[in-house]
Amino acid sequence: MKILIVEDSRSNLLLLTQYAQHFGATVLPAENGATAVATYARERPDLVLLDVVLPDIDGFEVARRIRGMESNGGDWTPIIFLSSLGKDEDIEQGIVAGGDDYLHKPVSEVVLGAKVRAMERLIQMRGSLVKLASKLDHANQELQRLSASDGLTGIANRRYFDDHIAREWRRARRNGNSLALMMCDVDHFKKFNDTYGHQTGDECLRRVAGAIATSLDRGSDMAARYGGEEFVVVLSETSLGGALIVAEKIRHAVHALHIPHSASSHSRVTLSIGLAAAVPERDDACGSLIAAADRALYEAKNNGRDRVFRAPPLAAN
Ligand code: GH3
Ligand code: MG
Ligand code: MG
Ligand code: MG
Repeated sequence: MKILIVEDSRSNLLLLTQYAQHFGATVLPAENGATAVATYARERPDLVLLDVVLPDIDGFEVARRIRGMESNGGDWTPIIFLSSLGKDEDIEQGIVAGGDDYLHKPVSEVVLGAKVRAMERLIQMRGSLVKLASKLDHANQELQRLSASDGLTGIANRRYFDDHIAREWRRARRNGNSLALMMCDVDHFKKFNDTYGHQTGDECLRRVAGAIATSLDRGSDMAARYGGEEFVVVLSETSLGGALIVAEKIRHAVHALHIPHSASSHSRVTLSIGLAAAVPERDDACGSLIAAADRALYEAKNNGRDRVFRAPPLAAN
């Protein structure tokens, strides 16, 4: 254990150093405030014994500067004030300045040893708490990731999509921007499962999700699994025309996977896409955008599949 002892009286410093060395500590001595602060910055001791009255800056100021150097919520060094001043206000001021305990001089070796042991225990407990908090933090992040992502494909899930579209709808309304939505549905997927089995079906969905996700360039674009073999893409600040380009890119990307589908007239796995876009005018109506994209998807299916169909402009919503 490294102890920084700040004491301007040579004889006291010597005595405290001997005490500390008796219980196996390494001592860093400082005879004034400036040296104390510099030594703290350089050595990062485990404990500070700090005299109040010093020739330059006082112990309270030293404590404040030490606390200022500790990272937020990260490290913590116990500070024990040492002073012959026995007034209650000094004790209070020391604690306010960032001290953790207070000892009156002259300090006995036994009392000093006991205080240091108590502080060591606090350091250890705090260390375990910090570790635990960090584990909890990681677990929370993982939980958040899991609750937002689809287990099969790894892209965002329906729950995330619901939040995202509602948020983007409000944002588009505030900014007067166009918001585009794409409903994608794998063609003849029931037959695909019937022909190749459910596991191959799952693998196909993973690859289609990957093709959709990698077709998106902007950080603000978002793809999610809507359910079953249906996927949604939200394009913020995008017009119907802009969304059409992205939709065709996605359709071609799925083509380019060359996943054989002998039971489909296209002989490979294809995607039908319904597109809709709107400049929102009311807060609670993102359902109308979803319904419009759904109807467009239905049209894409009815018109032969493997195609993109655009919804007519939404009526003022
Ligand atoms: P259409 O071209 O009209 O969309 O026909 P379709 O067969 O794709 O549509 P339908 O809705 O009749 O069937 C969807 C199929 O998707 C049925 C279901 O077994 C399959 N499916 C849904 N979720 C999963 C999944 O997680 N894994 C697998 N392998 N199949 C799934
Ligand atoms: Mg002094
Ligand atoms: Mg479907
Ligand atoms: Mg389908």
